[in-house]
Amino acid sequence: MYRTISEIINAKTTTEGEGFIVHRAFPNYAVRDFDPFLLLDEIGPIELSPGEAKGAPDHPHRGFETVTYVLEGAFEHKDSQGNSGKLHSGDIQWMTAGSGVVHSEMPEKEFTQKGGRLHGFQLWVNLPKKDKMIAPRYQDVPSSKIPISYSSDKKVRVKIIAGESMGETSVIETKNPIIYLHFTLQPDSEIIQKVPKEYNSFAYVAKGEGLFGTEKKLAKKEQAVFFARDGDEIMISNGLNAKNPLDVLLLGGIPLGEPVARYGPFVMNTQEELDQATKDYQNGKMGKINF
Ligand code: FE
Repeated sequence: MYRTISEIINAKTTTEGEGFIVHRAFPNYAVRDFDPFLLLDEIGPIELSPGEAKGAPDHPHRGFETVTYVLEGAFEHKDSQGNSGKLHSGDIQWMTAGSGVVHSEMPEKEFTQKGGRLHGFQLWVNLPKKDKMIAPRYQDVPSSKIPISYSSDKKVRVKIIAGESMGETSVIETKNPIIYLHFTLQPDSEIIQKVPKEYNSFAYVAKGEGLFGTEKKLAKKEQAVFFARDGDEIMISNGLNAKNPLDVLLLGGIPLGEPVARYGPFVMNTQEELDQATKDYQNGKMGKINF
């Protein structure tokens, strides 16, 4: 049975870090979190002049995972454990903050100097109570290693960031089962994606517009579609008369069903744990970036 839609929400334009523009699907006035997901930001798309790009300098995280997906432009990151790297178009970084890291997420130096188009996504995935204090872990996956599958008529393409779709399985490991799929649907095509009944699931339209769910409701660029947990398949189509491709992210995961206490970059289960996180950060227990 196909899932119906519970609500469609317009992403809210806001600023992050040093002042770069994001379209925030949630949290917002209507959706505080969508267990196990805590946040989805679309970074840009924005055309930047030389020297104009801004990022998020040194800041901590504890208790969840941040997933960065670059579509256009380039980012560089460093952290308190001595890791560093660059992310280019199509690359993914799945960072398990666990007990805590301090990291910086900046536009790449060269990109900043030259300017250009910047577009990407950051997703926050909650960790279950038992995993909140695990050792931090990075999964940096270049675009070339991310599985891609096509429908037989080639009208549908999917990048499998997490989970399974159209015969392919992701290379990224997640603590809890998660699906994170990037579909591109040419006009006159549709997808029916299996999503286990117990998963919460939502879609975010990155480009174009399409019809979603049993009701075939229209959703457009910068809108998030939240599905009800009433079926085990999700239907998305790009209509017969559509003029443009539809680019959509489809996400799903088993709700943790645990209390969420969040304060800025920390997401724990209780206020005491949040206070501890703040203390640990202030006392330097999450380290610092010194290179
Ligand atoms: Fe961060």
